[in-house]
Amino acid sequence: MKILILGVNGFIGHHLTQRILDETDWSVYGMDLSDDRLGKNLQNPRFHFIEGDIAINREWIEYHVKKCDVVLPLVAIATPKLYVEDPIAVYNLDFEMNLNVVKQCVKYHKRVVFPSTSEVYGACPDPEFTEDESYLVVGPIQKERWIYSCSKQLLDRVIYAYGTRGQVEFTLFRPFNWVGPRLDSLYAAKEGSSRVVTQFIADLMLKRPISLVDGGNQRRCFTCIDDGISALVKILANKDDVCKNEIINIGNPANDCSVVELAQKLKKLFMEHPNHRNDGTYSEILEVSSLNYYGKGYQDINTRTPSIEKARRLLGWEPAVNLDDSLKMTLYSFLEENEK
Ligand code: UDP
Repeated sequence: MKILILGVNGFIGHHLTQRILDETDWSVYGMDLSDDRLGKNLQNPRFHFIEGDIAINREWIEYHVKKCDVVLPLVAIATPKLYVEDPIAVYNLDFEMNLNVVKQCVKYHKRVVFPSTSEVYGACPDPEFTEDESYLVVGPIQKERWIYSCSKQLLDRVIYAYGTRGQVEFTLFRPFNWVGPRLDSLYAAKEGSSRVVTQFIADLMLKRPISLVDGGNQRRCFTCIDDGISALVKILANKDDVCKNEIINIGNPANDCSVVELAQKLKKLFMEHPNHRNDGTYSEILEVSSLNYYGKGYQDINTRTPSIEKARRLLGWEPAVNLDDSLKMTLYSFLEENEK
């Protein structure tokens, strides 16, 4: 199988590439703006990398959509700080640029495995979000955070419509707060535009206060990247066509944790780390308002728990890595990478 991955150097892209090259005989054709996370895979004869931009290198993309069997368009802005700072960029990249790729898949009848997001469920009140029943609930237009959710939702609907009319074969997957090595860079965290786990780790490393937005009682289910990638490889293999035109949550409901618990766990792990157990002083955990932290366009999501019944049934998949191990793996690798 030949797989085209756009955004191959991203968090999901580079982990997926590594697993495909290690455990299958598939080939990967990948594009990204840079290659710093791809390491030794760049030398693998089954990996074909080009440095490029999906907004510019359109001919390369069209040629490779035609050439490959499956397309994974993973290029997106997926950090809440940027949803409120630059909603137009989020819409342009996450919707318009990706729509072009989806249309190429329609044109050449190629299977598309598309990253939807747990964010599409928004503020849905269901205790567990189900792919085919839960309502997708967002706030008013002035709350610009929701542009990501809406952009992704609209693309989900477009892909679904093409799929149910026989014009493309698709699988939409919805990651629930995947975490792990190389989730976000130190640079992103310094800017305050990192996702919460890497943001807190960087805050600890830089001895800056950890900010609990609006008290930190909001909850997320943090999912180890290794589990996420195992599910994705099963989706790509698509045994007996089980994933054809399906939407699948990929998350770990057992790893449900509040933001304040997360801060305490990460601080403890940091204080026990061999490089830091004798530091003497450590970051304080402070409450900040979302208005001060993100600005007026922000609105939060109180709970986000996946139902993974469908993933279990279709893929025979079960997440295996618990919260503490997922956080430890993320923290150790972040420190190793940034304290060389
Ligand atoms: N958050 C926080 N402090 C930070 C960064 C994030 O309290 O320094 C909170 C944020 O308000 C949200 C949760 O952590 O409730 C998860 O944020 P993340 O950026 O990881 O993305 P989300 O899960 O909201 O898509």
